[in-house]
Amino acid sequence: MIGITNIYPYLPHYRLKVESINKAWNRSPGKGERAIANFDEDVITMSVNTLSSVKKSWDDINFLIHATTSSPFIEESSSDLISYVLGINNNSINLNINQSLTSGTTALHVGFNLLKQYKKGLIITADRRDIQSGDEHEKVFGEGACAIEIGTENVLAKLEAFSSISDFGYDTWKLQDDVSVKKSDDKFANEVKLENLAAVGRELLVKSNLQPSDIEWIVVDDSQPKLAKTIGNRLGFTPEQQFKTSLSNEVGYLGVSSGFFYLNKLLLKAKNGERIMLLQSGSGADGYIFSVTENVESFKSENGLLTQISSKKVIENYNEALVRRGLQNTVELKPYATKTYLRRERENNLRLRAQKCKECGFIHFPERPNCHHCQSREKMEWQWLERSGTIVTFTHDHVFPGSIEPKTMVVIDLDGGGRIFTQMTDHSPEQVKIGNRVTLSFRKFHEGGDFPNYYWKATPALKGGDLI
Ligand SMILES: [Zn+2]
Repeated sequence: MIGITNIYPYLPHYRLKVESINKAWNRSPGKGERAIANFDEDVITMSVNTLSSVKKSWDDINFLIHATTSSPFIEESSSDLISYVLGINNNSINLNINQSLTSGTTALHVGFNLLKQYKKGLIITADRRDIQSGDEHEKVFGEGACAIEIGTENVLAKLEAFSSISDFGYDTWKLQDDVSVKKSDDKFANEVKLENLAAVGRELLVKSNLQPSDIEWIVVDDSQPKLAKTIGNRLGFTPEQQFKTSLSNEVGYLGVSSGFFYLNKLLLKAKNGERIMLLQSGSGADGYIFSVTENVESFKSENGLLTQISSKKVIENYNEALVRRGLQNTVELKPYATKTYLRRERENNLRLRAQKCKECGFIHFPERPNCHHCQSREKMEWQWLERSGTIVTFTHDHVFPGSIEPKTMVVIDLDGGGRIFTQMTDHSPEQVKIGNRVTLSFRKFHEGGDFPNYYWKATPALKGGDLI
C-alpha cells in the first residue's frame, strides 16, 4: 500500500485582518484574517519549521521534494539546504519543483512513483507570495508551509487514483526581477480554472471507475469557495459531500500548500474507509482520490493544525504588517558573511549540533577543541541540541536598526544541556522574562554576503495555543 503517512502544517504567528487592509485603501471592511510571515521568515525557514519541532533528525527519509513558487533562490537548491538542516542522510534524493501552484500536487505524484523504489519520502510545500500593496488580491493571499510524509507503511490516506490536466497562461505570473505576483482578471481566470478542475475531476472518476456516490468527500483548493461549490455541483456531488471549511477566512489562500491544508483539515473529520477527492488548481489542475485508513484516529490526536491556526497574534495596523513583511523600506542590515563561513559553521548554525565531552559529558556550543569544563583533550562527539529551553538572561536593544519592537537578545539554557545566545522573534517585550520557556525556530538571520544567512531564534513557548 502506498499513500500519505502524516501531514505537518506550519503557519506563521502573525495575522493581518482583511478589515485593516481594506481600511488602508478606503474599501468596505470585509471579514477574515490572513496568515503573514514575519520579516525573518521565507519558504526555507517555514519549510524547516514544519518538521523541526517533531524530531531533530529525519535520517530515515529517502527523498525530499521541495515545492514552491517563491524560493529565495533562482540558483541554489532549496531542497538540499532543507534536507541538511533536517538531518536527512546525504544519500537522499532531493528535488525542487517550482513555478506552478500545482507544484505540490505534482511533487506528490513524483513522490508516489519514487515509492516503487524507496520506502519513505517527504514533500514539503511552502509559499510566501508578495503581491503589490493595494492590489485587491492582497486580502486573499496567506502564507504557510506543509510537510507531507509519504511511504509504504502506516498509511493514513491510501492513494487510489491520480489525474492531471496541463495548461498555462491564464492566472498568476511573476517575472525574474518582479517583487510581486501579478494576476489576470478574476472572471477570465476563474472560467479556465473551472474547466480544468471539472475536467480533472471527471477524468478521476473514469480512471478509478467510481461514481460520486462512492466518494464521501470532495475538497477543492481555492481562494473562492463559490468556485469550489460550482465544481462540486458540476461533477455530481451533493452539498453534504462538499467539504466546507473556514480556512480561507482564517489564514487566506496558501499557494502551493493550500490543497494540503484543506486535506489536513478534512482528515481531522474523516472516518476510516471514507474516500476523498482532492482537486488543486495551478498550471492546469491535479486531482487525487485517497481512501482513509484506521490510522486516521492517531492522526487526529497528534496533528497540530488547529493549534497552528489558533496560536496567533493579530496585527491591527496595516503599515506594521508591511514593515514586518519587509515590504517597507527600512534599514537593511548586512553584516560581514561569506559562503566559506556559512559552510564551515553549518553543523552548529544550521543543524544546531553541539560538541559533547567524552570525559565529563559537558555540552559545548559552538564547538571548541578541548573541554571547557574538565580540560580534557579527548575528541568530542557531535550531539543534536534540543529545540526548547529556558531564558537565563536577556537584553532589549532599542537602537538596533530596522526592527519593529526592540531587538531582544537572549541566553537560553536548552533542555538536555547546552547554552545558546540568540535573538527572540514573534514576541513582544513583555513576554520576555528570566525563567520563561522558549521554543527554537529556524529563521533568516541577516542578508550579509548577499545571501540569506539562517540561524535558530527563540520564540515564546506555547502550550495548547497559550503562552507558558
Ligand atoms: Zn569535559
